[in-house]
Amino acid sequence: MKYLSLLLSFTLVSFTLVAQVPEPKGAGLEPGTFPAKWITGGPDCSQVPKWQVHQYNPDLYIIRESGCTNYEKPFLYLLFGKDRAMLQDTGAGETNVGEIVSQTIAEWCKRNGRESIPLLVTHSHGHGDHISGDKQFIGKPGVTVVPLSVEGTQAAFGIKTWPTDLGSVDLGGRVLDVIPIPGHQPFGVTYYDRRTGILFTGDTLYPGRLYVSDAPAFVASIQRLVDFTKDKPVAHVLGCHIEEARTPFLDYPVGTKYQPDEHVLELSHANLVELNEALKPMNGNVVRYALRDFTIWPNKPR
Ligand SMILES: [Zn+2]
Ligand SMILES: [Zn+2]
Repeated sequence: MKYLSLLLSFTLVSFTLVAQVPEPKGAGLEPGTFPAKWITGGPDCSQVPKWQVHQYNPDLYIIRESGCTNYEKPFLYLLFGKDRAMLQDTGAGETNVGEIVSQTIAEWCKRNGRESIPLLVTHSHGHGDHISGDKQFIGKPGVTVVPLSVEGTQAAFGIKTWPTDLGSVDLGGRVLDVIPIPGHQPFGVTYYDRRTGILFTGDTLYPGRLYVSDAPAFVASIQRLVDFTKDKPVAHVLGCHIEEARTPFLDYPVGTKYQPDEHVLELSHANLVELNEALKPMNGNVVRYALRDFTIWPNKPR
């Protein structure tokens, strides 16, 4: 009897231990960090650098344009594989983005004992505040710029049927899945970086006003993103702007340069599910609807 209870308690203890085994460290994803604060734009523009270049980890940089240059203050992303680097977006207005990206690539090459690395310039979507610097890259040696069209996007990433098929891009030991997400803009895409588990959602999901120009397409795109991520670890959802304040349900008005109390950049997979659940009861008739960290906003006011 004593042995039996001992055996029973041993079994219970081992079961408890097994039940508490955590997820393998970091779900196999490469981790990274965010800065304590992003530059926004002010209060004194003479003191604000034009760009903030942040190393999320050794092979991924997040670059933010200053609000003093352009109130949109977009985020750009620079990722490195063994064979190629990839830049998502080229910023807003007249800038020295080419110079900043070259300097960052040179820094990476130096650290990795290389002379150079080819660059693929891609886009989250085709709005002016994300493509203004394209002309600084087109025609440069070792640089390929993805054309600004549905056809160009399909060809670059091997997307057979738009927008229901997936594409991909291999930077050398680093594959990103490419998911078409029209609705905010006709050739918008989301990139899923398998190495970091980051979902780059452009202007379709970020802490701010999610402008919807084609409601049925937008609703279908969000559902496809939810379906795509169902069996994948998502570390962060990173969009291209911050317009929300840290105060729930509060956003900075269009045109704000200085945002001293802005929301963090990173959203989570839960926010994607939240967006999808908010859209469902609208039955395709998408209306303005504020959630804690972002607002669904039909008809882009521009
Ligand atoms: Zn946009
Ligand atoms: Zn934008």
